[in-house]
Amino acid sequence: MAVPIGAFLNPSFLDWDGRVSAVLFCIGCPFRCPFCHNARLVLGGARPRSFNRILSSLRKTTGFLDGLVLSGGEPAMHSSLPETIRTLREETGLPVKLDTNGLYPEMLAALLEEKLIDAVAMDVKGPMESYSLLAGVRVDTNRIRRSMDLLTRSGAEVLFRTTYVPDLMTERDLLEMRLMMQDRGRWVVQLFRPGVTLAKELRQGRKPDPDRLRALLPGVEIRGRE
Ligand code: SF4
Repeated sequence: MAVPIGAFLNPSFLDWDGRVSAVLFCIGCPFRCPFCHNARLVLGGARPRSFNRILSSLRKTTGFLDGLVLSGGEPAMHSSLPETIRTLREETGLPVKLDTNGLYPEMLAALLEEKLIDAVAMDVKGPMESYSLLAGVRVDTNRIRRSMDLLTRSGAEVLFRTTYVPDLMTERDLLEMRLMMQDRGRWVVQLFRPGVTLAKELRQGRKPDPDRLRALLPGVEIRGRE
């Protein structure tokens, strides 16, 4: 059985740098990040879409696409992810990128070993000591570190990304993270957007100041709507 897909976007110009992609958003996530914008996927309110219909849509548009993105929610929590990606690759011949929160190093290792994924974007929520606060649940950060180490050594196209939420993090946290992320490859800081977040308190939360972040973190890519 395929991973439950709660939303499907085709095409997307934003989800894989430099590529036109189709994005499959998986239902379910073990985290409850207060700043998350995907409540329907995370809390299970999204209705599963027909995988066969998604495949049929992909077959018609494969010629216009450069890749597929498995996003969420958290795709790697589903044991059927390898089989789902195998099917997608067989049907489309397209490379695959995985978006993950890094909680499943065993799944990442298996996907990399079988060469089922070509690129990975991993969210690194913040400094390890703040992880459970930022993920909204208790997190075994050894698992996060294992995923980061695995990806750093993998040779795949890897992007680490952190959403800066001024109401939950300090600038000192970002400086600590810059040290943690050095020598790990590409790390980008995303600007938090208030709006329909999981935690009601953040819906009117403070927005980051991009100019201040650029001055604080020279050389680090700052992303997001300003
Ligand atoms: S932001 Fe957090 S809760 Fe939302 S999908 Fe990502 S890991 Fe899950």
